[in-house]
This record gives sequence, C-alpha cells and structure tokens, in this order.
Amino acid sequence: MHPGLKTVIELQQLDAQIAEFSAQIELLPQEVQSLETQLHEFIHAHEERKQRLAKNQKERKESEAEIQTIRARITKHKDQLYEVKTNEQYKAMLKEIEGEEAKVRAFEDRILEKMLEAEDLEEHIRDAAARLDSEKARVAAEVQKLQALRQEDVEKRNELQVRRDADAASIEPQLLSLYERLRRGKRGLAVAEVRDGMCTACNVMLRPQLFNEIRANESVVTCEQCGRILHFTEPPTDAPEAAGDQLASS
Ligand SMILES: [Zn+2]
Repeated sequence: MHPGLKTVIELQQLDAQIAEFSAQIELLPQEVQSLETQLHEFIHAHEERKQRLAKNQKERKESEAEIQTIRARITKHKDQLYEVKTNEQYKAMLKEIEGEEAKVRAFEDRILEKMLEAEDLEEHIRDAAARLDSEKARVAAEVQKLQALRQEDVEKRNELQVRRDADAASIEPQLLSLYERLRRGKRGLAVAEVRDGMCTACNVMLRPQLFNEIRANESVVTCEQCGRILHFTEPPTDAPEAAGDQLASS
C-alpha cells in the first residue's frame, strides 16, 4: 500500500479517537456542576425546613401567649358580671365573653395545625440530617472519580496526539494539507473506503479505470464526486456467496 495512503487512514482513526476523548473531557465540568447542584439543593431544602420549623415554633408560642391574654380578659369579664346593674349590661357582657372564647378556640386550632406541621418538619429534618454527611461524601467521591477519569482521558488523548503528530510529520506536506482540508470540510471524514465499486461516503459508482487504480492502493486517488481520498479493503473471505453455497448443498 502507498505509505501516504496508509498514514492518512491511520490519521483519520486517530483524529476520530482524539475527538471522542475531547468530547468526554469537555463534558466533565458539566457533570461535576450537576452533582454539586444536587448537593446544594439537598442542603438548601434542609436549611429551609429548619427555618420553617423555627418560625412554626415562634408562631405557636405567640398563639399560646395570645390565649393567656384572652383568658385573663375572660376572667376579668366574669368578675364584672357580678357588678353589672341592668339585664342589658349582663347580656352584653355574656356576649363579650362568648366572643373571647371563640377567639381562644381559633387560636387552639391554629396551635394544633402548627403542631402537626412541626411533626412532619421534624421528621424530614431528622432524616436529612442523618443523610447529609453521606450525601456530601457521595458527591465528593463521584467528583473525585470523574476527575480521575478526566485525567485518564487527558493522558490517553495526549498519547494519541503524539502518534498523530508523528504521522502528520511523516507524510508529504501536500497530502497532509489535502487531508486537513477535507477533514475540516467533510465533518471529519477525509478518507473513504471503496466497496462494490462505490465510494462509501457519497455512494457514487466509480469509473472502472479509477476503481482499478484504487484497488491497487498504490497511489492517492480522490473521489470524483465528493473529493475524498479513497482506499480499497479486500472484502472478508466468508462472503455471502460462501453462505449461499452452503445453503444450496444442504
Ligand atoms: Zn465520494
């Protein structure tokens, strides 16, 4: 095989591998970010519940204080009942007491509601507090694992890059610039295989004379349709004909 042709085939394989590693390497900061966001949200939800619980307890204390104040007023009104002079005053005072007692019941209902809410919050807070350290450890371990993987990818990519640079330096500058130009223009596919007399990149049928030239793999030939560098690989020996023969004989 033409040495330059052999090299551009290898260059294309190396470039594809390098691009794959680069894509993985570039994806990593995003993955780390997403893990850190998970942890941040977990901590944020935990802190928010603690704040809600503190507020809940404050509101319960306020309601309890309100009840005490109202009860003191009720006691005072009940004492005043003995001092009223008229029936109307007596009735008005009773109504006043009823109103105050309704307020007490309303505050008692609110306290009950707050107690139920507090139970729920306390349960969540206990659960999150128990998980917080393990969540932090999990995220730290995953971030570390990702960074180690990234380091591996960077090293592998560097090794490939060294081989790539050596290959690029070993071929004629003209062939290298043709390869580079095609690689940029044809989305990474500068070299295409010929199969069944066709260019596998653009599916155009090659002229027999051109096909014979490519089949020899002894010169750099480009596709007349898409411009890619063409090469030929002998099809595997256990081709469909062999399978067909077997079917026919059985
Ligand atoms: Zn083509």
